[in-house]
Amino acid sequence: MSEEQRKVYESSPASAIMLNDSGHFRGNGSCLLHQSLDITPHDFPYLQPLFSDSYQEWLRESAGTQAMKKISWALLSHEGAWLTGAPELMEYFVESEVQKILRTLNSQKVAQFVGKGSFEGRAVCAVPLLTRVHGDVFAIWVGVSLNPMEAEQSLMLTETYALLYRACFYRKLDDIFAEDLDKVHSQAESEVHRRSILFQYVKRMHVQNNVDCVLVEAIDSVLALYPKAKVELFMSQDHESGHPLVRPLLIHHWQEEVYVRTFMEGSLTIHEHKDPDTTVEIGIPMGGKQGVYGVIHVEVDKSELPEMDLELLGMMADAAGNAFENAKLYEQSNLMIHELRMINELTQRLNKSLHLAEIFQFANQELLKILKADYCCILIYNEELGGLEVVSCNAEGLAKEIFEKDYGLGGLVYHSKEPMILSDYQQERPAESKLMESTQSSSMIATPLTVNGDVRGVVLLTHAKRHYFSYNSYRLLQALTSHVGLAIGNAFLHAEVRRMANRDMLTELYARHYLDEMIHECQKRDFCGSLIVVDIDEFKQVNDTFGHQRGDKILKQVSNIVKTTIRHSDIPARWGGEELAVYLPGLGVRQAMQVAERIRLRVAEETDPRVTVSCGISEWNWTNDKISVESLFYRADMALYEAKHGGRNRIMAEKTEIRSD
Ligand code: GH3
Ligand code: MG
Ligand code: MG
Repeated sequence: MSEEQRKVYESSPASAIMLNDSGHFRGNGSCLLHQSLDITPHDFPYLQPLFSDSYQEWLRESAGTQAMKKISWALLSHEGAWLTGAPELMEYFVESEVQKILRTLNSQKVAQFVGKGSFEGRAVCAVPLLTRVHGDVFAIWVGVSLNPMEAEQSLMLTETYALLYRACFYRKLDDIFAEDLDKVHSQAESEVHRRSILFQYVKRMHVQNNVDCVLVEAIDSVLALYPKAKVELFMSQDHESGHPLVRPLLIHHWQEEVYVRTFMEGSLTIHEHKDPDTTVEIGIPMGGKQGVYGVIHVEVDKSELPEMDLELLGMMADAAGNAFENAKLYEQSNLMIHELRMINELTQRLNKSLHLAEIFQFANQELLKILKADYCCILIYNEELGGLEVVSCNAEGLAKEIFEKDYGLGGLVYHSKEPMILSDYQQERPAESKLMESTQSSSMIATPLTVNGDVRGVVLLTHAKRHYFSYNSYRLLQALTSHVGLAIGNAFLHAEVRRMANRDMLTELYARHYLDEMIHECQKRDFCGSLIVVDIDEFKQVNDTFGHQRGDKILKQVSNIVKTTIRHSDIPARWGGEELAVYLPGLGVRQAMQVAERIRLRVAEETDPRVTVSCGISEWNWTNDKISVESLFYRADMALYEAKHGGRNRIMAEKTEIRSD
C-alpha cells in the first residue's frame, strides 16, 4: 500500500467500510480506492453474513474436486469461534482443540496435528486468513482430514483452499462495496436532481411579485413532477384567480375533507381511500411566515405514492407560501401607493374650486372613475327643505330630487353615520332605494359625508354586478369622501365669507357695493329695471325719543318688511344710515310703485314703535341703456327728496307721486 493510500485509509473512520446486519456497508460512501479497501478488527464482529455468503460461494466453486471428498472444512473466527463450515464438524471444535489451534498459530504460520479427543484420529490443518492491507488475522481456515497419513497433502490443500476462500471473501466484499457505492451514487444523483428542481422552483417563485402567477407556478410545478396526479389548490384568502385549478377553501361542514383538515392542522395529511378505490389524497399546507394561505391537494393512485417525494412537495409548498406572502405584500403596498396617489390627485383638483356645484360634479366624476362604479349619487341635507337633496348624480331622473331624510339607503347611512357595503340588493334589502331600483344595481357602497365634523350628507356608489365592490373599494371610498368633505367645508367657508362681505351686519340686507354690482349685471342682460330708495321719516326724532337701540330694532323691522314684501329675484340692500334700497330687475316704474306702496303700508301698520317711510323710485330701460347706476341712484334720491318735501309717508317716482292719506 502506498503512503498516500495509507493516509486515506487512516483518515477514514472505521465505519466507512463496516457492514451492516444485512451484509451491506453502513459506509458513508467515501471514495476509498478499491485496492486499499479492507476490513479492520473493528469490522470483525459484523462480518458473519459475509463469511457465510463467501463460504457458500466457495463451496459452489470447489464442488466436485478431490479435496472436497477427502477433507471437511470449517471457518473459525480469529478468536476461534465457529463461523461456518461442514455442519458435522461443528461438535468437534471443543475448547481444548480450539485453544490448541490458536496456540499453535500464535507461534507458527500453520497448525498441523493429529487430533486428540473429539478429533481422535483425524488430521487437523489450520491456516490463518489475513486481511489484505494490514495482514491481520481475521479468520482461521481449518481442514479436517479423515486420513492422517496424507498430512502433507492435507496441509497443501488447506493452504490452497484457504487462499481460494479468502479470494471468494474479498470478491464478495468488493462486490458489496461496489453495490453500496452504486447505491450511494444514485442516491446522490437523485438528491442533486431534487435540489435542482427545488432550486429552479424557488428561483422562479422568488422573482414573482404577482400573486396569481405564484399560484399558477405552484400548480404547474407539481403537475410537471407528477403528470398523472390530480392537483388542485385551495386558497383561504379572499383571492380571485383565473386559474381553473385554484379554488376557494370554504370551511363549511365538510370538515372531514383532506384539504380542510390540512388547513386546520397546518401539516401534511395523507388519506388512503378504502378498497376497491385505490386513490390516495394528499394535502400539503401552503404557509408563509404569517400563517397558512392555502392547501395543495393531490390525488394519486396508491401505486404511485412510493414514487412521490412528499418532503420535496412540502418544501415546494413552503416556497409557494412564502412567495405568495411576499407577492401579496407587494400587491398591498402597490395598492396603497395607488390609493394615496388617487387621494392626492383628487384633493388637488377639488381644492382648485370653491364652488359647491363644481365640487359635487367633479367629486361625482372622480369617484365613478376611481372606484369603477356605474352610478354615483351625492346627497346633502338641505336645512330649508328638511330633506336629503341630490346635489350630483349621473343616474337619469334623480338630479335635484329631494328625499325624506329617513328614506332609502342614503337615509340609513345619514342616520347611522356609518358606512355601508351591500353585495346583493335583490337578496338583502335593508331599505327601499330609488337609486338601486332605477339603475337596476345590485352592489352598493356608501359612506356619510362629513363636513367640519358633522354629517352633512351621503355618498353612494352602485354597480349592476352582485358582489362587485371589494373591502378595499369600501375603505377607499371612505378615504376619498373625507377629502370631498374637506373641499366642501372650504367652499362653505368661502361662501360664508363672501356672504358676509356682501351683507350688512345689522339688517342682514345686501351691502351697497353688492347692489351696485348686481344692477350692473342686470343692465347687461335685462330690458328694464327699477330702483326704490326707502327712507324712514323723522328717524332722528325716533332715536331721540326711544334711544338708538330701539332705533336699530326699528331699522331691522323695516328691513324685514322690505325683504318679505319683494320677490326672490329682487335685491334688497342697506344704502346707508336709515336708508334702504331695493332693485327690481325687469320691472318698470309703475310696478315698482306698487311694490313700494306695499312696503309703505306694511311699515305704517307693522312697526313698533310705529314709523313711516318715504320712497323715491327711478327706472331704466333698454332704450336708454346709457343710464349709469349712479344716475339711477341720483334720480331715485331726487324723487325721495320730493316725497319728503311733499309731506313724508309717501312715494315719489320720477315725476309721479302716490300720496298717502
Ligand atoms: P327725514 O328723513 O324724515 O328727513 O328725517 P330724519 O331725521 O330721518 O333725517 P336725517 O337724515 O336728518 O337723520 C337721519 C337719522 O337717522 C340720523 C341718525 O341718528 C339716524 N340713523 C342713521 N343710521 C342709524 C342707525 O344705524 N341706527 C339708528 N338708531 N339710527 C340711525
Ligand atoms: Mg330719514
Ligand atoms: Mg335719511
